[in-house]
Amino acid sequence: MNLNLKNQVAIITGSSTGIGAACAIGLAAEGVKVVINYHSSDQEAKKVVKQIKAAGGKAIAVKADVSKEKEVKKLIKACLDKFGHLDIMVANAGLQADASFTEMTLKQWNKVIGVNLTGQFLVCREAARIFQKQGVHKHGRAAGKIICMSSVHDEIAWAGHVNYATAKGGVKMMMESMAQELAQDKIRVNAISPGAIQTDINKDAWDNPEALEQLLTLIPYGRIGQGEDIANVCAFLCSDAADYITGATLYVDGGMMLYPGFADNG
Ligand code: NAD
Repeated sequence: MNLNLKNQVAIITGSSTGIGAACAIGLAAEGVKVVINYHSSDQEAKKVVKQIKAAGGKAIAVKADVSKEKEVKKLIKACLDKFGHLDIMVANAGLQADASFTEMTLKQWNKVIGVNLTGQFLVCREAARIFQKQGVHKHGRAAGKIICMSSVHDEIAWAGHVNYATAKGGVKMMMESMAQELAQDKIRVNAISPGAIQTDINKDAWDNPEALEQLLTLIPYGRIGQGEDIANVCAFLCSDAADYITGATLYVDGGMMLYPGFADNG
């Protein structure tokens, strides 16, 4: 399959670690020039850039807090200054600030909504503005592609994580509404909803045998996911092979959405 991604330009937010890093490395392997966005320490971002360059790819690291409008604009400018255009936005940055509902502070609520929902709004809006201006050009069949990193928790309720599940539920509707509005501009907007992927965000769920065993009861396919599982789907959704796909959510979860508790008659 020819993904036809060569020489396209992508920003992947929160890509110094985890799923974002895997998506950046995966896109770069297909010839995409990538912007590694990081939030605080540049150490890990530099490592990802180094790895991509060592494999013959092109990458830069840019610091920006996606929940801040000014910083998002600076991120976009840094990309355009370096690479001249933008074809792909992967709105991936995210975090958790967990608490039981009655213990949840406004700060915890605002933090998660600010990064996981408003942050995606800000980066997607800036990208869509560029795609509209740019139109369909020599790189690929669409004027631009947006991938929203959602979660199985855009569907599955999650006690103790009401802020996170609410943000992801919001991402699903934001993604679908954007897709509807932007299709006429030949901008494709889709979401990937990962299940359990082995990254820092959910370390407590896999870093000891008891926790992992418990987690695996939720995954019919019998293994925890890896960043690469998401990166492969990300590259496909960004490619011309997916040119007729917009407004879709792909659940990449080893079957977590299949209510595994009912596998033995409930
Ligand atoms: P991760 O912690 O490795 O990655 C999250 C990244 O976002 C980090 O690099 C972090 O620095 C960055 N970030 C946080 N706040 C930011 C801000 N204000 N501005 C810019 N960057 C910021 O965890 P991950 O698992 O790779 O998470 C990536 C995305 O995948 C998140 O949106 C998460 O909700 C989603 N997700 C992960 C899983 C999983 O099982 N790991 C499951 C479903 C969804």
